[in-house]
Amino acid sequence: MESKVRVRFAPSPTGPLHIGGVRTALYNYLFAKKHGGTFILRIEDTDQTRYVANAEQYIINALEWCNIPFDEGPTKEGNFGPYRQSERKDLYKKYADELIKNGWAYYAFDTAEQLDAHRKDHEENGKTFIYNWHNREKGRLVNSLVLNEEEVQKRINSGEKFVVRFKTPQDDSLVLEDKIRGKITIDTNTLDDKILFKSDGMPTYHLANIVDDHLMEISHVIRGEEWLPSLPLHYLLYKAFGWKTPSFAHLPLILKPVGKGKLSKRDGDKIGFPVFPLEYTNTKTQEVSRGYKEDGYFADAFINMLAFLGWNPGTEQELFSLEELVQEFNLERVSKSGAKFNPDKTKWFQQQYMQQKSNEFLTDLYLPILEEKGIKSSKEFVQKVIAAVKERAVFVTDFWELSSFFFEAPKEFDAKASKKNWKEGTTELMQELISVLESIEDFSSENTETKIKEWIVSKEIGFGKVMQPLRLSLVGALKGPHLFDIIAMIGKTETISRIKKAIATL
Ligand code: GLU
Repeated sequence: MESKVRVRFAPSPTGPLHIGGVRTALYNYLFAKKHGGTFILRIEDTDQTRYVANAEQYIINALEWCNIPFDEGPTKEGNFGPYRQSERKDLYKKYADELIKNGWAYYAFDTAEQLDAHRKDHEENGKTFIYNWHNREKGRLVNSLVLNEEEVQKRINSGEKFVVRFKTPQDDSLVLEDKIRGKITIDTNTLDDKILFKSDGMPTYHLANIVDDHLMEISHVIRGEEWLPSLPLHYLLYKAFGWKTPSFAHLPLILKPVGKGKLSKRDGDKIGFPVFPLEYTNTKTQEVSRGYKEDGYFADAFINMLAFLGWNPGTEQELFSLEELVQEFNLERVSKSGAKFNPDKTKWFQQQYMQQKSNEFLTDLYLPILEEKGIKSSKEFVQKVIAAVKERAVFVTDFWELSSFFFEAPKEFDAKASKKNWKEGTTELMQELISVLESIEDFSSENTETKIKEWIVSKEIGFGKVMQPLRLSLVGALKGPHLFDIIAMIGKTETISRIKKAIATL
């Protein structure tokens, strides 16, 4: 029987979460929910030099906005906490000690200067310095593989700085399994002896990550492609501890719109697109980065777009609710190659979601905007307005531009359109139209349309001669929805008053 699915999103709080990180979280969430599993948030904050104070809260807020809540994590303690590595600090040392005891790791005392010198030396001879089987026991490097035990203890006790390095086995061929990439074979002689633990008492990413994945009973590690080079070491660590290895899936990079290179914040600025879910203020520089939320995207549109950056359902369907994504998602359909970020497609998703939203829902979002403009209107009226203009809107912030004339008379008239459409005789025609309008009792869209069209036909003139100046009078420009719908909605008095104003102005 398959064991319980437990997955984790394990960001380091070094700044705002890039959309690549949100996608990793999303795929973890979808995978967990699909298999009735648990989605965990683990904050990997062992590297205090890169720690940014407001980053963790940003991550939590972003997941909340995206509607992909974690089941266990900081502020949601489960049975495997704490979920911040800095709070688990004390438990890692014993695992480093265990590896040393079993011969899978060793102390190394080489100073930064010494290592630099080795590096330089190698470079001068056209070689690359790698700390591994090749040189670790040759005597030039200072570690517990060459020093005797007494000497090692003496150095440690005297407070000398050390690191614990993994003793990568020599001449071994590792066969790694990745759910997306398949089998990967690695020659261990190409690997270096990575640092696992430092004398400041802090583990490095590798040790803390593996220990925590084991202790938190993680069944599947789903993370970005940039961690693929760490996979051989992680496999070896599981072997060294004698622990069951979880399944791995490394997600493809999110690429710049042009296709080459990883999408960066700078690309976002260049093409005018956010690369972060929420707005972020850098506390040091005060620089503000745009967010999808603040730019007016609906969270579900954003998530749908992200789901497709690296995955597809294998059908033509592109619009998926979160529940549908949970149903359809599988790692087998995640692509190996990088996913090109497409700003137009991102907007397309938003527009599609806009059309799907109910007029009631949108009304609640539009009302505060109207209020801010000092416009008082009933919910019913605003709902009708939204029904009339929604198909042209991408964002809620487009509503005003598309519908202001439903709420107030135009402040000006489009000069070009006026010149073209308000000609000799137009004023007289509009005056006559006012009388026609005054005589109409039933001011519904259909009735005014019939009556006005009958009048135009009786005058034997083209429709445009009346309709264009009339639209100009009511809207201020030659835009907007069906003219008779506007007339019906603003009513007789307002319609006539606007025509009079146009006559007086044009
Ligand atoms: N802390 C790593 C990161 O920042 C986690 C990598 C992993 O998921 O193993 O992405």
